Amino acid sequence: MILRHLEAQTLTQTPVLKNVVKEVPTVQAKTEEKGTDNKIESKALSSYFRGGQMVHFEGHHCSKSDFKVKKEEGIPCACCGRLMMTNNGVQNFERKAIGAKGEDLQNLLTVNMDYFRGTEKAVVNFLVKTSKINPNLTMKGLLTQYSPNAKSLLEEEQRNVLAEVSNKASVLGKDNPVEKCVQKALKDIEKSTDEKHFERKPFLKKLVDATKDMEDKELAGQILDSAVKLPMSKNSIEAFIVKYAHGNKEDRDIAHRLAQTAVSTAEHIHPDTLGGPDHTANYVAECGDCNSKRGHMPLEEWMENFPNMPRSVQRNIDEVTERIIKGNLGSRYDDYPMDIQATMNRETGGIIRLKVKNPEEIQKAREERGLAQPEESSSHH
Ligand SMILES: [Zn+2]
Repeated sequence: MILRHLEAQTLTQTPVLKNVVKEVPTVQAKTEEKGTDNKIESKALSSYFRGGQMVHFEGHHCSKSDFKVKKEEGIPCACCGRLMMTNNGVQNFERKAIGAKGEDLQNLLTVNMDYFRGTEKAVVNFLVKTSKINPNLTMKGLLTQYSPNAKSLLEEEQRNVLAEVSNKASVLGKDNPVEKCVQKALKDIEKSTDEKHFERKPFLKKLVDATKDMEDKELAGQILDSAVKLPMSKNSIEAFIVKYAHGNKEDRDIAHRLAQTAVSTAEHIHPDTLGGPDHTANYVAECGDCNSKRGHMPLEEWMENFPNMPRSVQRNIDEVTERIIKGNLGSRYDDYPMDIQATMNRETGGIIRLKVKNPEEIQKAREERGLAQPEESSSHH
């Protein structure tokens, strides 16, 4: 449990999120402008929703896997606004990446550049660059080639973090339990080989145990806050290279890992854990990266942590509407933009008011462009 908490903390420490958190006032300011009435209303709303009661949703019942929007290639994420890949897109990318080298590899990575996020994008840029110097190496080969270098940088960073932990714990006296963990970690780093290296998670687990009984809870917290800065493949290019250069990781695994944060998923607007139904009116397409960061946050908290969301969800619905007009999603989705407008309006107490087309306007747009009325899709239940 505590370890899970630690992982969540680490996420909020990535620079991207730090900036995002700083920008929160946009949404907060809007809430304040609205005056007391809305505050009471939003309180009532959140207690209602947080109570986990079922909420009535327009739209159609739909399992996550049947949600057609996430099967459209190149839709912007409803949360971060970055382009998303479908599951098929990810599989194609993996297939093409197996054994690819030289210009083929560089082209494959470059044409997909818009899809990659954060650390993954940094790794992709690194692969493009190093592939030009080593045109005979595949992704796995490149990571292996540069892993000694990455490993020494990673270890330097690990030692820095451990020194900070040790420093914080120094008031506990010589040979304190925290110091013992640190010394053991330093030994593991020194002895590490390609196949067996120092691991972050077990170390953090031991450190949590070591600080559990400390009287000074604030200091214990500071020690753990320092320790979670240990780099991991999610936020460090060096940790990524070291992790994927060795063991049984192959081109396919590397490609999968690079693309998976961009994969389009069905996100419950009202979390399912809080009574949100499996319903087209309760789904937006969101990238794997945002989906895992949001977890089960209620919408209010989600907006505070992701201030781009209101803009992104509008971009998302605009692009989805375009696909609906073209007939890609079947006629049952003609209501979808209005359903999402209603859901967002209700869930945010009127803060997010989307501009959408109603079914008549969608139909009109089809006629103007000479497009056929799509057939009703049968994959709905
Ligand atoms: Zn996203």
